[in-house]
Amino acid sequence: MRTKGNKSAKVSVITMGCSKNTVDSEVILAQLKAGEVEACHQHKDDSDTIIINTCGFIDNAKEESINTILDYAQLRKDGRIEKLLVTGCLSQRYHEELAAEIPEVDAWFGTFDLPKLLKNVGVDYKKELVGERQSTVAKHYAYMKISEGCDRPCAFCAIPIMRGKHVSKPIEELVFEAKNLVRQGVKEIMLIAQDSTYYGIDLYGERRLHELLDRLSDVDGLEWIRIHYAYPSKFPFEILPLINSKPNICKYLDIPVQHISDNVLKSMRRGITKRRSLEVLDRIKAEVPGIALRTTLLIGHPGEYQEDFDELYEFVKNYRFSRLGVFTYSHEEGTAAYGLEDHVSRAEKYERENAIMDLQHDISYELNQQMVGKEYKVMIDRIEGGNYIGRTEFDSPEVDNEVLLPFENQYLRVGDFVNVKIEKAEPYDLIGRPQIKH
Ligand code: SF4
Repeated sequence: MRTKGNKSAKVSVITMGCSKNTVDSEVILAQLKAGEVEACHQHKDDSDTIIINTCGFIDNAKEESINTILDYAQLRKDGRIEKLLVTGCLSQRYHEELAAEIPEVDAWFGTFDLPKLLKNVGVDYKKELVGERQSTVAKHYAYMKISEGCDRPCAFCAIPIMRGKHVSKPIEELVFEAKNLVRQGVKEIMLIAQDSTYYGIDLYGERRLHELLDRLSDVDGLEWIRIHYAYPSKFPFEILPLINSKPNICKYLDIPVQHISDNVLKSMRRGITKRRSLEVLDRIKAEVPGIALRTTLLIGHPGEYQEDFDELYEFVKNYRFSRLGVFTYSHEEGTAAYGLEDHVSRAEKYERENAIMDLQHDISYELNQQMVGKEYKVMIDRIEGGNYIGRTEFDSPEVDNEVLLPFENQYLRVGDFVNVKIEKAEPYDLIGRPQIKH
């Protein structure tokens, strides 16, 4: 396909990194479509223009983004694509250095350069399309970014360097976006941000996540609303009665605690102590019985000594999170921790990460046994290997447990809700049988 003037004929958008990047790519695709440029998500051989939406969070993610750029740089050099554009966090952070090293890239854009990026492929940015996006995940669920950037000072984190200060999207705009998504067939939304519990402070002068949740829960057709990226310090407990009372707000909360040792929490500048972290988690569990708590831990941060790790290990063992993920510390220039000694070796980091994940594997297995014999509302996500694959309200897409329903004499569609009796449980999967179709 050949470009006409500077208007690209067909664009492939390649997304790296987190769900926030997924939303940004979906916005790019909607703008390209409105600009009458044929566009698709992920690589298509007949595309003349490639846009790579990169991730610049930690070393592994950066490496993956750079390798992807180099792959396309080769296609550019071979003349198999006419234009190679790079945007997203890695480009925001390192475009000068990268531009010097990879001259095959035609242009580099930052995380706030959407109008310029579109201009480069011959499309004018349309403000009126706010809330419009072209789904790249599933038709029945979507991520909704409620704010951009972050005001927190976490010592290890480069995100504020790439995404700037915290900016909340107005409630009206998000309700409009949710209604749009429901019109497109979406039944479940994941609320995402760098820090979703900070929502509203910049815009309304106070935390308004509860009000946003309340308004979204009134959107007809929205069956599941899920909260991700809650921050434990100054946690807005006013959202808990809503999670309890609104049937379409999932009894699920993603709340990264990162660590539990006071020494490490201090070194991380998390603004919270072990005692306060436990108080927050205990109150959430007490006020929303049966809630599934997902957390994320960061292993190997400067200041984490063996006794700190042992303390974290005991915490995971005793607290028994429903869902848990682990990152290993990455020494990121420009962050406050970069001035500290990165004294935990790569081998020690992976050893500690594996120890926690082995522990969580067993905890998840034990917790899943408690679901056997019970019935749950399950959303069918896909059909694979002779099974319908779905999730309960306690599981977010792509990161949590799945429910496997062997094909039987029941026809189910992707996006359907079905009542399922759990018959068997494995560490990260449940096997069940459909009961009644909703
Ligand atoms: S809350 Fe902390 S870890 Fe999360 S994006 Fe903000 S600075 Fe980074």
